[in-house]
Amino acid sequence: MLLEGKIGVVLGVANKRSIAWAIAKRAVEEGAQLVLTYQNERLKENVVELAKDLTPSPLLLPCDVADEKQIDALFAGIREKHGGLDFLVHALAFARREELDGSFLNTAPEGFRIALEVSAYSLVGLARRAVPLMEGRKGSFITLTYLGSERAVANYNVMGVAKAALESSVRYLAADVGPMGHRVNAISAGPIKTLAASGVSGFSKILDVVKEKAPLRRNVDALEVADAAIFFLSDLSRGVTGEVLFVDAGFHAIGF
Ligand code: NAD
Repeated sequence: MLLEGKIGVVLGVANKRSIAWAIAKRAVEEGAQLVLTYQNERLKENVVELAKDLTPSPLLLPCDVADEKQIDALFAGIREKHGGLDFLVHALAFARREELDGSFLNTAPEGFRIALEVSAYSLVGLARRAVPLMEGRKGSFITLTYLGSERAVANYNVMGVAKAALESSVRYLAADVGPMGHRVNAISAGPIKTLAASGVSGFSKILDVVKEKAPLRRNVDALEVADAAIFFLSDLSRGVTGEVLFVDAGFHAIGF
């Protein structure tokens, strides 16, 4: 069991298709004890229902990352229940629908701010609160990113800019927390049909292109991403930090 005895918090479960949910299930299979968060009351019901499948049962806490008070309360809750933390999974992102359709030229300042704050800055704010709970442990942080950070992908727009900021944040955070023994990495997942993905206009076309062109001639699923997450959360990756690992059937490696 690769995560035996480890305490982890997973942010980003919305429903059973969520990448965060696949990671949570795999982490529990590997022996982790989890804390799961839900963004709001509307999603709480889903998370409560899904959590019934996990043993030991996770602590469930609200956390909208746009609300600093909720983030503080999350870490206070983790400290109270577990006294410490070994890993944090950041599997969340948000941009307004109008920014995920059409021209990037039309990105509004407010749309830019929201996408960057929720999808990139949140990792920094979470890490700052998590580090004190990781004292004396070798902590691991992971986040989820996408190829749209380095290539202009139709309709991905401001989310690509947010993912570029997120990947850069991974490197800066890795530099800051590395001397304490903690690691920070990102998984760049290929397209997977989830709630967030359906917000990107023309998403099913991206799935088709990957299936046709990727070296493995198929798309990936959330379980494949979760398996890579277990690598990063466990000691198997103890020498790796500041990295972006593609789990995308090789699509990123292809030119013409
Ligand atoms: P999802 O819709 O299941 O998960 C997105 C999560 O973000 C939801 O749980 C939602 O509640 C949460 N969220 C949004 N705004 C939030 C806020 N203010 N506070 C707290 N939580 C908030 O979709 P997913 O595809 O599993 O997304 C998980 C991560 O994977 C995201 O970072 C996404 O960009 C990334 N990713 C997804 C794909 C894909 O094709 N699905 C590919 C690469 C990367």
